[in-house]
Amino acid sequence: MTTTLITGANKGIGFETARQLLAAGHTLYLGSRDAERGRLAAERLGARTVLLDVTDDASVEAAVRTVEADGGLDVLINNAGIESRGPGNTIPGADEVTADAMREVFETNVFGAVRVTHAFLPLLRRSAAPVVVNVSSGLASLTLASDASTPAYGYPGVAYPASKTALNMVTLQYAKAFPELRINAVEPGFTRTDLNGNTGTQTVEQGAAIVVRMAQVGPDGPTGGYFDAEGPLPW
Ligand code: NDP
Repeated sequence: MTTTLITGANKGIGFETARQLLAAGHTLYLGSRDAERGRLAAERLGARTVLLDVTDDASVEAAVRTVEADGGLDVLINNAGIESRGPGNTIPGADEVTADAMREVFETNVFGAVRVTHAFLPLLRRSAAPVVVNVSSGLASLTLASDASTPAYGYPGVAYPASKTALNMVTLQYAKAFPELRINAVEPGFTRTDLNGNTGTQTVEQGAAIVVRMAQVGPDGPTGGYFDAEGPLPW
């Protein structure tokens, strides 16, 4: 039996990932920072929910105690993320970004993922086949963002892509430090969710596909990589 925790799973790509992994037989914890949103989402799927705000140490520690008391953890999916859009769904560019706005995005997308991974690592290391999936973005790629022929090149925001580039580096460093862990960063693709005001071009089923695949890698699978549905991406 594989036990899996997904942060920010009350909606969007996290919720769809939960739905697919439940269907694949995982025991699922839907992480939600809001108890009621978590309860409603878990009820729809017939899964468990755990209160978990990735920016809050006490919340993360309480979630560790809950999951530990129930028996442990095999798969952690760091999915919770924010993009910080402005009025009218606008993306603050380099002329507008502030240190505070940047800090807010990093608090969830980078420090949140590190906080949760660090807290659950002792449980994961007790698993026979521990897996971590860090939900990154194609916008994280320095190679793609500097290539004028890619969509990533035209993205004007600073905080969000920088946070996901940092998350990619975090992924790589964990992979080197813990060879027994399969830990990878994934790019779901531009997916219709609240994150982008539902302007994405893919369905959540398409967005969740690579998350689900990397959540199921076996001990011989890749680690320290960065993938989308088509395969490895350039860093
Ligand atoms: P959604 O906005 O639909 O979902 C984001 C989820 O993260 C929600 O459940 C939200 O909870 C949760 N969340 C936000 N902050 C916190 C926090 N502090 N603690 C716990 N949970 C939190 O976005 P997506 O489903 O699109 O995004 C999922 C991941 O996919 C993100 O990491 C995003 O960066 C990444 N991604 C998305 C793409 C897209 O095109 N949609 C493309 C590439 C990457 P609440 O409901 O309480 O706000």
